[in-house]
Amino acid sequence: MADSVQGGQILVQDAQVHAQDVQETAVTLQVSPEAEDSGVQLKKDLLQVVADHEQATMLKNMNELLRPVSVTGMMEHALVHRERVGVQDFVLLEDFRSEAAFIDNLRKRFNENIIYTYIGNVLISVNPYKPLPIYTEEKTKLYYKKAFFEAPPHVFAIADNAYRSLVYEHREQCILISGESGSGKTEASKKVLEYIAARTNHLRNVETVKDKLLQTNPLLEAFGNAKTHRNDNSSRFGKYMDVQFNYEGAPEGGHILNYLLEKSRVVSQMAGERNFHIFYQLLAGADQELMKQLKLQGRPDAYKYTTDMGPSTNQRNNDAEQFRTVQEAMKVIEIGQSEQMEIFEIVASILHLGNAKFIQNDKGNAEILMHDANTSNVAELLKVNGMKLREVLTSRTISARGDVVNTPLDQEQAQYARDALAKAIYDKHFSWLVSRLNSSLEPKDKESQSSVIGILDIYGFEIFPKNSFEQFCINFCNEKLQQLFIQLTLKQEQEEYLREGIEWEPVEYFNNIVICDLIEARHTGIISILDDECLRPGDATDLSFLEKLTQKLEPHPHYKSHRRSDIKTQKTMGRDEFCLVHYAGEVTYNVNTFLEKNNDLLFRDIQSLMASSKNTIVASCFKDINLTSKKRPETAITQFKNSLNELIKILSSKEPSYIRCIKPNDFKGPMQFDDKLVSHQVKYLGLMENLRVRRAGFAYRRTYEAFLERYKCLSRDTWPHHRGPARDGVQKLVNVLNFEKEDYRMGNTKIFIRFPKTLFETEDAYQL
Ligand code: ATP
Ligand code: MG
Repeated sequence: MADSVQGGQILVQDAQVHAQDVQETAVTLQVSPEAEDSGVQLKKDLLQVVADHEQATMLKNMNELLRPVSVTGMMEHALVHRERVGVQDFVLLEDFRSEAAFIDNLRKRFNENIIYTYIGNVLISVNPYKPLPIYTEEKTKLYYKKAFFEAPPHVFAIADNAYRSLVYEHREQCILISGESGSGKTEASKKVLEYIAARTNHLRNVETVKDKLLQTNPLLEAFGNAKTHRNDNSSRFGKYMDVQFNYEGAPEGGHILNYLLEKSRVVSQMAGERNFHIFYQLLAGADQELMKQLKLQGRPDAYKYTTDMGPSTNQRNNDAEQFRTVQEAMKVIEIGQSEQMEIFEIVASILHLGNAKFIQNDKGNAEILMHDANTSNVAELLKVNGMKLREVLTSRTISARGDVVNTPLDQEQAQYARDALAKAIYDKHFSWLVSRLNSSLEPKDKESQSSVIGILDIYGFEIFPKNSFEQFCINFCNEKLQQLFIQLTLKQEQEEYLREGIEWEPVEYFNNIVICDLIEARHTGIISILDDECLRPGDATDLSFLEKLTQKLEPHPHYKSHRRSDIKTQKTMGRDEFCLVHYAGEVTYNVNTFLEKNNDLLFRDIQSLMASSKNTIVASCFKDINLTSKKRPETAITQFKNSLNELIKILSSKEPSYIRCIKPNDFKGPMQFDDKLVSHQVKYLGLMENLRVRRAGFAYRRTYEAFLERYKCLSRDTWPHHRGPARDGVQKLVNVLNFEKEDYRMGNTKIFIRFPKTLFETEDAYQL
């Protein structure tokens, strides 16, 4: 090894290049101490230039690495390069308070097909809307056992980090993925799962479990995803999945929790959107025999619930293919033939139910004709009494003071009952499917003590031109997750400081607990007021609910009524609207249908008929409902609140990693980066605040060993080897680099660096 400096020319030799990395951007290059002769500045320049991992793309070629390089030339090149691809960790942004600089950095990277960037240990991902060669086997291996900053930002780095912390440090993990519809959450969650599957390949006996875990995706997507304006494969439910590992670190099972399926989609969709995929898949993919058994004709436009989108031939082929994937997945999950048949009978029965027609008899009541094939098909497929079915769809029985009174429904009420039944069957069946997957994913060895990595793929903050009950639930969920983020991040920080024997320095941040309380506080919160109104006998309406809200909450700084004169939203707010100042911004909600959606009533007669079904799935879905109890079932929002609090409890016990997904444009197309759209998401995801908090503490921390290994070439005292404790070596380096006292702390096992510009520049250059 004989590096030399000759009048502005540096000869770098013996570059240690990992062959497999050369193709990629990761190149490790070590420079001998002779380079130090040229002075600290030159050495830093050199390091900054030649070791920059992204820089290394221009040094791909080994020959290029070994030939004399002009420092000035390389510096220029490096600056141009940096200018082109931005920084890979936002904490390195000089102007870290500027949203414009933030977006600029994202855009630069996006244009270079670099979709991942960190804010410390939070991964930001921008949907490329095109396949990128970044998930290959080779890439996967690049992340095995790599410390967080040893390879370019990637979802695999998050997965590997979580896996290692779980297996080697025995800390349970969760990966929280958020972002708006179409931003790439589900794709990211699949990549995490695929990475874990690949990472544990060498371990025994896990193939079937891994297959099952992976196959839950196509199945859940068929039943829970749909084409929307924003995403052709939009998840219409929230999902939390635990992957359970045995003592060896091999996956041995899993458990899924599902949240709030958008069941209204079963009976109607916006123009240009579709119902859940499975309806189309079944119609396009079932063979003749199955179609006959299910009494179906092949076209979606024959059914009211699927008419809205006549599919193109292309789409139809795709649906047919997906149907085979679903059947294959069912096989892997061990859903047998008869169970499969029951599932398809349910799907088909909903299509027939949608076509049920009511006529008006001379008394103005709804009636179904005796020979109506649709209801006969439903009765046959669901294995319930046909007469009874027609009866419960056109009347309801009410028991009052011991008397049972049968009241006929008018046409509109009957249609409402029909749609409510379709929604209830689909929704309950979806939950059944999740529990069916869970029983298949249960670890074989029930005694074993498994530890878990949880993956949360849940709807992000939603602000539409018109926001309703669903957005209220979703945004409440996001407030809770933000609260968890605050608690966990601070807790994590605090614990680390304590472990490392470093004094805790509190950071100022906005705590959204006041908004959580505004929504969920007992007796006084919005949920409580809504439930009270739903339970109030008599003349409760959406507007009376709004009136109560305003009466009780008007003074609250995060609640705005249309009456308040001092708000900028007043102009656009209607008399049936209220506005919440969420952590991510103001959202105006329209109260129309809040009560109905929250009550979520299904007439008892319908429920008991379904409980009598000979389709075992349907029967099990409805039989748990206590039909005799006088107590009202919990309202939709209370159920949601409870399941959310349960989720928060689960997540709180784990160490979190975050993936924040961003959608670059509204056209679902590649290479288009809409600054304004991205800016909204940066706000809703709280990224600027995230960055500010990260920068306010010690932004960087590294174990002494890792730090020394990386920078030992910066001092003669530590290069090529440092003898003695790594901490001492680091202290020597820190002295050589002239760190200011305030800029760093020496912990028990790690060095903490606040923001020493010098080191960061070197570090930035060093990112591999
Ligand atoms: P929703 O909330 O509607 O479920 P989402 O955030 O889960 O949305 P995805 O379904 O993951 O969004 O992504 C939408 C589409 O974007 C995918 O179907 C895929 O075509 C594309 N996409 C997402 N992530 C990637 C990626 N990393 N590489 C290539 N394409 C991607
Ligand atoms: Mg999704």
